[in-house]
Amino acid sequence: MKTIYFDNNATTRVADEVWEEMQPYFCRLYGNPSSMHTFGGQVGVKIREARERVARLLGCDPSEIIFTSCGTESDSSAIHGALAALPQKRKVITTRVEHPAVLAVCRDLESHGFTVVELGVDKLGQLDLNELEHQLDNDTALVTIMYANNETGVIFPIEPIAEMVTNRGIIFHTDAVQVVGKVPLNLAQSPINLLSLSGHKLHAPKGVGVLYVKKGTRIAPFLLGGHQESGRRAGTENVPGIVGLGKACELAAQNMADENTRVKRLRDKLEKALLKSCPDSRVNGDPDHRLPNTSNISFEYVEGEAILLLLDRHGVCASSGSACTSGSLEPSHVLRAMGVPFTAAHGSIRFSLSRFNTEDEVDFTIEKMPEIIHRLRELSPFVHEISR
Ligand code: PLP
Repeated sequence: MKTIYFDNNATTRVADEVWEEMQPYFCRLYGNPSSMHTFGGQVGVKIREARERVARLLGCDPSEIIFTSCGTESDSSAIHGALAALPQKRKVITTRVEHPAVLAVCRDLESHGFTVVELGVDKLGQLDLNELEHQLDNDTALVTIMYANNETGVIFPIEPIAEMVTNRGIIFHTDAVQVVGKVPLNLAQSPINLLSLSGHKLHAPKGVGVLYVKKGTRIAPFLLGGHQESGRRAGTENVPGIVGLGKACELAAQNMADENTRVKRLRDKLEKALLKSCPDSRVNGDPDHRLPNTSNISFEYVEGEAILLLLDRHGVCASSGSACTSGSLEPSHVLRAMGVPFTAAHGSIRFSLSRFNTEDEVDFTIEKMPEIIHRLRELSPFVHEISR
């Protein structure tokens, strides 16, 4: 059975060109880039090239790039690093719809005496910028707001937000893990101070990420030890991962137009067809400000997990808006924050496409989904409840 992979917001396939470029750095060019000898030095040259490639995609200076191990590390380093550099300030502002890589850190800060404000969102998943403005005060050290949501694809107006925050002398961090490679960025012209990205979301391998730190932004290092990354992140570099990320960034710049035309057209085709063929279905998230690859659809009166299982039998990979914790199915915190009704939040499925998806894959899923939904609704306790 062929695998049809519509779960690219969870992770992506490593591009062939990325894998090819990484290979020499495992068994042949395995030197330590910090070594004095030529053998290690040539690896350092390749890291420099990767840094330049990442900087080109982000529109910033290579010296502003710190390689990390993943998006989670970049988020943690940004938040802890910014707060450690401003010990007199004790307030952090974030949103209720952040990825756990940010939310869990902020909630932990709260237990250590910080004031943490979690901004709510409206039905479309958008923020109220007046509420944000109202919350900015002299005690605020940091505002951390994601660029685009991993579950719904909703894009926040990050440039005006960063402008508002940094005009008050407050540090602004954005988790752009789902954005890099899909939305053009020009950080040299942007007020954003700190930005996180993760390699495995843009066809580079797992285990490599970046924290962008704008020149002049003071943050304390999160990992202490050696002098790697100019003393800003200790630890011997994941050389193959960094090389792969550099290549993936180069490819992302070349393929961005494809993401926004062909991939978007496939996403729209899938979404439109499913809304038409499956009654009581709805799209979650602002349709006008959304990543081009993401569609989060609620199918009322069915469990998302059950849909996933039946899709899986046809080789189709997607993900649901519920997290199965200790036997109880909790609807996603993002959909709850948007006020999506219980029956719809439970039956939500996220399809996230990439440039490796084809028209045939979309057509196959369009054909299979209505019978899956119909079959599950016949078994659904929700439907029987309603018809009683
Ligand atoms: N932030 C967002 C928005 C994400 O979607 C993810 C991963 O799904 C992360 C952070 C964490 O990234 P990583 O898996 O590289 O730690």
